[in-house]
Amino acid sequence: MKFGGSSVATASGLNRIKDIILQNPKVKAIVVSALKGCTNQLEQLGEEALRGTFTATLEAIKTLHLKLVEELLPEEKHSDVIIFVQKKINELETLCNSIQALQELSDRSRARILSYGEVLSSFIITKFLEIHKSKTQLLDSREVIKTSSGILKGVVDYEQTNANFKSRVEADDMLYVLPGFIASNASGETTLLGRGGSDYTAAIVAGALEASCLEIWSDVDGMLTADPRVVKEVRTIKSMTYNEAFELSHFGAKVLYPPTVRPLMQRQIPLYLKNTFNPESEGTLIHTGEADPDEDNIKGISSLPNIAVITLSGVGMVGVKGTSGRAFSALDRAGVNVILITQSCSEHSISIGIERSEEVAAENALSEEFASEIHRGLINPIGVDNDLIIIALVGEKMKELTGMSGKAFGVLGENGVNIRAIAQGSSERNISIVIDRKNQAKAINVLHERFFGESTKTV
Ligand code: ADP
Ligand code: ASP
Ligand code: MG
Repeated sequence: MKFGGSSVATASGLNRIKDIILQNPKVKAIVVSALKGCTNQLEQLGEEALRGTFTATLEAIKTLHLKLVEELLPEEKHSDVIIFVQKKINELETLCNSIQALQELSDRSRARILSYGEVLSSFIITKFLEIHKSKTQLLDSREVIKTSSGILKGVVDYEQTNANFKSRVEADDMLYVLPGFIASNASGETTLLGRGGSDYTAAIVAGALEASCLEIWSDVDGMLTADPRVVKEVRTIKSMTYNEAFELSHFGAKVLYPPTVRPLMQRQIPLYLKNTFNPESEGTLIHTGEADPDEDNIKGISSLPNIAVITLSGVGMVGVKGTSGRAFSALDRAGVNVILITQSCSEHSISIGIERSEEVAAENALSEEFASEIHRGLINPIGVDNDLIIIALVGEKMKELTGMSGKAFGVLGENGVNIRAIAQGSSERNISIVIDRKNQAKAINVLHERFFGESTKTV
């Protein structure tokens, strides 16, 4: 089981967690996130350390944890835990002072700082659970989960990791508590699994322990048909395939971190998304099987903000082999991550969707690669469109149906939403539509209404 930041942030949430665990004698390991908001505070702390203005944020982090300790634990347990929290705050202060003195915030120091959220939460939660289940043990994920490269979004060395779990985890009735998000590399340095990575930790642990199932507990009833912060009339998706879950999360459904799917899919471990604050609700089952024929044609709608579209166009591209190869190699060398690609049939243009933060790097890389063609007028100067978003409509059943894209484009057109680019994966389980950011809420709401709407209409 994995419990996210909102579930572990309060004494009442943790009491619910305790009940959920005690009702499930088969639970072998739980993975916990940092307290809600703490990782963002730690990011801020790192930036402030550079400027030498970090004391208020450090104090806020300390208060956040001490307040929870006071509310959660009986007094006789306080001193041990308060000493631990203070020790970790002192370590953070030393780190901040070094960052300030050296005027250097490397990825390694960033990873060290960000790791404290889960280090603190997992310690406090273990102390709390021990009261109710004596056979509870804290297992620092850095001792078992190993990454082979990368610091902030490490690449997991599954072979080493699985072997470590085999030698560390006993087959008795011990309950292990592991901090999510953090890992370590071969030199023992702290590494991270990417923001939102506690879900991934849980999948790695479930895979290593060959679990019969993984439950991810958050603050919503499961995977919803759209982001509940954007659409009011969302529904809970009862079940979906791993691929559908991957597509929806990849395109912005924050309730699940996309890399989580892979270790589960490989071992065919079913995943339940459940709500800590409404445990009776069935949640969403993500499974290996076929799509359920009775389910909706489209499972869900998600969206990715902060998108730019780079366009490579010109008469010199028609019938010329290797243009796209050169374009993608140039982007790859510049470290730009390509999210979406469309090419018009005439080969007259290729549009490439990327994150807005990588817009300048992408434009420079392509301008340089095609400098000679641009100079000779064969290719137009690289076009850049920003302030866009991608909306993704996801569902396995789409491939058997005709007219789904027509329906989507129709409703957007009727509502005056201009479509800037579209892409449909060859798997046909995802239609991606690029539109202006200003139309985001309207577009998602009208699409949701068209595909999931009942008789009520919201104006
Ligand atoms: P946790 O701290 O438990 O990991 P997150 O904040 O990472 O929780 O993810 C849960 C949040 O994801 C929800 O509160 C919800 O606002 C957001 N969310 C966005 N899109 C979806 C969706 N399609 N289904 C469910 N939740 C979504
Ligand atoms: N605490 C980490 C984050 O906020 C990991 C997680 O919560 O999943 O990104
Ligand atoms: Mg999360």
